[in-house]
Amino acid sequence: MDQRSVLIIEDEQPIVEILKYNLEKEGYAVQAAYDGAEGLSLALSQNPDLILLDVMLPKMDGFEVCRKIREQAATPIIMLTARDEEVDKVLGLELGADDYMTKPFSIRELTARVKANLRRTTIDKAQAAPAEASEVIVSGDLVINIERYEVQKRGAVVDITLREFELLKFLAMQPDKIFSRESLLENVWGYEYYGDVRTVDVTVRRLREKIEDDPSLPRYIVTKRGVGYYFNKA
Ligand code: CA
Repeated sequence: MDQRSVLIIEDEQPIVEILKYNLEKEGYAVQAAYDGAEGLSLALSQNPDLILLDVMLPKMDGFEVCRKIREQAATPIIMLTARDEEVDKVLGLELGADDYMTKPFSIRELTARVKANLRRTTIDKAQAAPAEASEVIVSGDLVINIERYEVQKRGAVVDITLREFELLKFLAMQPDKIFSRESLLENVWGYEYYGDVRTVDVTVRRLREKIEDDPSLPRYIVTKRGVGYYFNKA
């Protein structure tokens, strides 16, 4: 297997060093950028497999970097937020980050997250490779092409992130079955003990804005109050 690459965008040198050391020990090729502008430029020119992105950065903050990367690439992004503030977590996810971690974090938890986020892309690439009969889920005006990693609504391709696609695929492959947020976190994000169920809510909201005619009255991704979410095939 090719060596996977991680780009760290973080202005605190000691954090960069400890992350670099530990990720290299795990076998990743690691590059670092110390401000937002340099980070964005490396993200777009080097096309890393995963990006660790700090929020408070010189020249361009992490939110702006995230937004700009998302305009061009679906690379998994884990935001590193310094403050345990709701607004930071939610804003990062709204802008298309796949995940976030609040500082101070444990290296063990961070490497677990990196692995979980990379595992998803590895599986997807492996599954996308063979040109077998394409698996396509059609529901209403929605076409979900599992192998091509593509969602169309009324014939138009929906601009969707890796995580949003994974969530939609997971729900749509088992229509009408209700999943708790914890179960979705475990199955779609790949965590067992880490993670915050609000991540699921934010991703559902973002997904609804992309695939629903009226996100406040969802027809596809439906909330079962007090239980979780399900894909409504009918
Ligand atoms: Ca910083």
